[in-house]
Amino acid sequence: MSLANQTQALLAKMGVSDAYLNGDYAVHSPIDGSELAKVALHSTDDAHTAIAQSKAAFITWRTIPAPKRGELVRILGEVLREHKDDLGALVSIEAGKITAEGLGEVQEMIDICDFAVGLSRQLYGLTIASERPSHHMRETWHPLGVVGVISAFNFPVAVWSWNAALAWVCGNSVVWKPSEKTPLTAIACQALFEKAATKFTQSTGITVPQGLSALLLGKADVGNALVESHDVALVSATGSTRMGRLVAPKVAERFGKCLLELGGNNAMIVTPSADLELAVRAILFSAVGTAGQRCTTLRRLFVHDSIKDVVLERVKKSYASVSIGNPMQGNLVGPLIDKDGFDAMQIAISRAVAEGGVLTGGERVLADTHPDAYYVKPAIIEMPSQTDAVKTETFAPILYVMSYSDFDEVIALQNDVPQGLSSCIFSDSVKEAEYFLSASGSDCGIANVNIGTSGAEIGGAFGGEKETGGGRESGSDAWKNYMRRQTNTVNYSSELPLAQGIVFD
Ligand code: NAD
Repeated sequence: MSLANQTQALLAKMGVSDAYLNGDYAVHSPIDGSELAKVALHSTDDAHTAIAQSKAAFITWRTIPAPKRGELVRILGEVLREHKDDLGALVSIEAGKITAEGLGEVQEMIDICDFAVGLSRQLYGLTIASERPSHHMRETWHPLGVVGVISAFNFPVAVWSWNAALAWVCGNSVVWKPSEKTPLTAIACQALFEKAATKFTQSTGITVPQGLSALLLGKADVGNALVESHDVALVSATGSTRMGRLVAPKVAERFGKCLLELGGNNAMIVTPSADLELAVRAILFSAVGTAGQRCTTLRRLFVHDSIKDVVLERVKKSYASVSIGNPMQGNLVGPLIDKDGFDAMQIAISRAVAEGGVLTGGERVLADTHPDAYYVKPAIIEMPSQTDAVKTETFAPILYVMSYSDFDEVIALQNDVPQGLSSCIFSDSVKEAEYFLSASGSDCGIANVNIGTSGAEIGGAFGGEKETGGGRESGSDAWKNYMRRQTNTVNYSSELPLAQGIVFD
């Protein structure tokens, strides 16, 4: 069956209405470049209508008790379990992920639903000691409003669920503008949400307000409508630092809230005491998984002088054993998303070589069988130092390898890039590992010991510093981004004492 036919069958199975599929915007699969479907894109006027409807939905939804809101998300998790294979396959077809990673992405959605359900009974505030007699203070968390989600192509469904599951239990409505490269998986998610909403209403008798989940298909102009709207309380934007640089000032100008999850340039340090077997396996998964198209992909490898040759030899050997090809046929490395991704990779390689890099791999493969798809051999480039090319995120499988001799120096190098997403150290020395995690160690939002840079669990807060944008999504207390904080002081006395002992009479 052609990919287009498989796509039609999967969409139908997930209950997607034909209304979305009657446009003229062609969606292509990175697997072979073939056309999967044509969808209708929204206009900025459509965006304004959706935002208005979402605002009305918020007014109703915020009054539903949080544990009841959690019940909707619990049912969504059930629907996702039912359709895990379908949605996972569609992620593979549309984003080019290998089967295990397509399924893994849907599992992540299920996990965040579970997390959010628990959270719906734990939106805790504080009680605070008042300095005044017969007064008490507390901190309360209230729903925020319309949450606009802008997402990237490489996690076409999980990023929406990280935001939406938390936003809904927190009492908000959600308008989602997915990547224009992956509208089909987004349409499928919306259909699964609608399924869950119907089941929720049947079992609880509570009507899900229309517009609680809205989908806007389009490019930057449609995303920009969310960014500029005073009715969008929070803009959660995932994508390149270039995009974040455009979005953040506009949201700030109207005093909206922004949650930014932008580019990374993630590093691993391998010290002399490291378990090299573990390190090499972690390098392979972190650097070539998802064809190097994860925000947390390993891009910089620092190996101690004394073990550099042996590590490099083993890494090259493991690279050579990796199968590249159709991601749905058991290969470990699938395609780049498109020609632009391939061109960017080649430009970065040329630049690094001009800066003294020694290249292994990086060339296009399978061009004869798939002239319209872009498969590459993951590249390893031995660099003489951390040059400008190394400091730039290129969204492709390029691993820059550098050696070091001094531990303090390598920590400084690891931090000496504009981005601050993920980092790790392989070391059996407690001193080195703990130093890496200390205030003087890694400056990233994610710092790991003896595991790679990618493949985060949903339980922790996810995000990074500096040009990665500073946002935190998913676990821990990331939910606080989706609520507004209120400080309350209650006087249950017959006096009116003022704070700081001020007398005003
Ligand atoms: P991109 O920046 O090209 O696009 C991301 C989204 O932003 C798309 O939906 C796009 O339409 C939208 N957009 C672009 N310009 C906009 C504008 N001016 N106003 C409003 N919306 C706009 O990114 P991409 O190529 O889809 O994804 C790859 C990038 O995303 C990499 O840099 C990667 O590191 C980053 N990423 C980061 C995370 C994270 O959690 N930190 C996760 C995934 C991807």
